[in-house]
Amino acid sequence: MVKKGRNSIRSVEGKTGGDPPKKFSWKNWNAMGKMGHYLRPHAWGYILGILIISASGILTLLVTRLWGQLGGVGSTSDSPTQVESPLQALQIDLNDLATIGWTILAVLFIQAVLSFVRVVLFARMTEDMMLAMRHDAFQAIISMPMRFFDTRSVGDLNSRVSADITSIQDIFTTTMAELLRQLIIIIGGIMALLYFSVTLTLLMLATLPVMIIAAILFGKFIRTLSKKTQDQVAESNTIVQESLTGIISVKSFANEALELLRYGTSIRTIRSLAMKGAIWRGAFASFIILFIFGAITLVIFKGADLMASGGLASEHFFTFLLMTGLVAGSIGGIAAQFSALQKGLGAIESLMELMEEPQEDIETSEGPTEEPLRLKGHVQFQQVSFHYPNREDIEVLEGVDFHIAPGERVALVGPSGAGKSTIASLLLRFHEPNAGQILVDNLPIETYPLTAFRKRVAFVPQEVILFGGDIQSNIAYGKPGASKEEIVAAAEKANALEFIESFPEGFSTLVGERGVQLSGGQRQRIAIARAILRDPEILILDEATSALDSTSEKEVQSALDTLMEGRSSLIIAHRLSTIRGADRIAVLENGNITEWGKHEELIAAKGAYHRLVENQEISLT
Ligand code: ADP
Repeated sequence: MVKKGRNSIRSVEGKTGGDPPKKFSWKNWNAMGKMGHYLRPHAWGYILGILIISASGILTLLVTRLWGQLGGVGSTSDSPTQVESPLQALQIDLNDLATIGWTILAVLFIQAVLSFVRVVLFARMTEDMMLAMRHDAFQAIISMPMRFFDTRSVGDLNSRVSADITSIQDIFTTTMAELLRQLIIIIGGIMALLYFSVTLTLLMLATLPVMIIAAILFGKFIRTLSKKTQDQVAESNTIVQESLTGIISVKSFANEALELLRYGTSIRTIRSLAMKGAIWRGAFASFIILFIFGAITLVIFKGADLMASGGLASEHFFTFLLMTGLVAGSIGGIAAQFSALQKGLGAIESLMELMEEPQEDIETSEGPTEEPLRLKGHVQFQQVSFHYPNREDIEVLEGVDFHIAPGERVALVGPSGAGKSTIASLLLRFHEPNAGQILVDNLPIETYPLTAFRKRVAFVPQEVILFGGDIQSNIAYGKPGASKEEIVAAAEKANALEFIESFPEGFSTLVGERGVQLSGGQRQRIAIARAILRDPEILILDEATSALDSTSEKEVQSALDTLMEGRSSLIIAHRLSTIRGADRIAVLENGNITEWGKHEELIAAKGAYHRLVENQEISLT
C-alpha cells in the first residue's frame, strides 16, 4: 500500500492475465499426492465411504436383479426356475411375488440409509478439508512477496482460487464417489450379464467400446470448448472489475460507452462460444442416446429370439434388459464424472503450485511473541542498486547513498518516475536491493525478522484506502487490540478527534467501502492516527500530490508534525513547505542521489534542486 494507495507500489489496475488455468495431464495424479496432508486425517472416513459406496453399488445390482425376477415371475406362473445361489442362500422364496416385493423394499431401505450416511460423511470430510485449504490458500497468498502482486491481477487471482477450491470440493463430495459407484455397477453388471447369457452380453459389448471411444473423444473436444468459454467469462469479469475499481477515471473521462463496448464485445464472444459448446453437447447427448437405445433394441430383439427358442428364462431376460440399461446409463454418466475429476485434479495442481510459491518469512499467527523489537531508527542506504524483477533491463536505482539519523526528517525529492516510491518500498522490505545494502541501526536490514521489523515502521500513503469497518477499527489497524483510550488519544494527536466526534455515531461511524464516505483530508488523518497508535521508530510518508483545501491542509500538516516528532522520517515530498521543514533534502535523479543538504544550501548551489523549484516541479503551496 504505498503509492497509488493500492495493494502495490504500482497499481495493478489495468493488468490482466496472470497464470492460465492448469491443463489436465496424467501427471496431475501426482497432485493428489500433495493433497495427502489434507486427506490423511480422514483416511478412515474415506475407507468407510468406499465400503459404503461398494455396498450400495452391489445393492443396486441386486435390486435390478430382483426387479427382473418380479417381471419374470409375474409373466410365467407355470414353470418356476432355479434361482442362482446368492439369493438361494438367504432362503428367500423368489418364486413368490410378495416375498420378492418385500425383499426389494428391504434392500431399498438399506440403500436409503447407506446413501444418507454416505452423503453426510463425505460432506463432513470435504468441508473439513475445504476449511483447511481455504485457510492455507489465503495464508499463502497474503504471505506472498510484493513482486508476486506486481505481476498478477488481484481479481483474477481471487476468482481463480475460489473456482479451484469449488472444483476440488466437487471431486471430493460427489465425483469420486459417483465414479466408484458407476465402475462397480459397470464391472459387476457385466459379470452378471455374462452369467445370464454369454451370447447376449457379447452382442451388447460389441456396441459399447465404439461408444466409449467416441464418447471420450467427444468429451475431450467439448471440454476444450467449455474451457474457452470459462476463460472468456474470466476476461469479461476482469473488465467489470477494472472499470468499477477505476470508476473515477471512467466517469471523469466520460468513457462509459467505451467500457460498455469493451464489455459488450467480450460477452458476445461468451455467448457464441457457449452456443457452440451447447450444440456440440447436444450432439453428444443425441449420439449417446442413439447408441444406448440402439444397443437396447438390438439386445431386446436377440433376447426375445432366444426366449422364443427356449434358450433363456423370462426372469433372466427381464433382468438382462434392466441391467443393460443400468450399465449403459453408468457408462454414459461416467464421462461426465471423468471430466469433473480431470477439472478437479487440474485445480488441485494449480492450487498446490500457488501454495508452493516462495513466500515472505512473516508471522501469520497472532500471539505472544518474543520481546518486541525496538529500534533507534538509524537508516542508511549504501550503494543501493535495484531493478524490478519483472523489468530487469531498467535499473531504477544505481548506487543510492544516503542516511537518516535517529529522529531526523529527510525529504526525498525528484522528478516523477525517479524511483522515490521504490526507495520507500525497499525500506519497507517489499523488495530486496540487487546490490549494495540497507542498514538499520548499523545492521543489514535483512537481519531483522520481517514481521517484527515492519511493526517498527509506519507508512502513510499518498492516497489512503480504509477498510470497510468503522472509524475505530480503522485506527486500531495500527495496533490490533488497542484500547479505546489509546485510539481516542491517537485520534486527538492526529487532529481527527474533532471531525470524528462531529459525526452522530462518532468512532462507530462506518467509513464505507474503501473509506469513500470520508474526505481525503479526513482519511489522511485517520491514517496518521493509525501510525501514531503504532508508535514506530521509522516513518515513511508519501505526501499527497492532490491539494487539500487550506484548512484541511493545515490540520493534516500539524498532525504530520506531531507524528514525525522524534521519529526517523523519510518523506516523499512534493510541497515546498514540507521540504523546508525537513532536516535534510535528498534529490533523486537518474537513479542516484545527486544533491544532499538543506534547502538554503541547495538553492544556493543552483543545481538540480534549484531547477526543480524554478520549474515549479515542487509545489509552492
Ligand atoms: P517515483 O516514486 O519517483 O515517481 P517510482 O519509484 O514509482 O518513481 O518508479 C521508478 C521507476 O520504476 C519507474 O520507471 C516505474 O515505471 C518503475 N516501476 C515502479 N514500480 C514498478 C513495478 N512494480 N514493476 C516494474 N517497474 C516499476
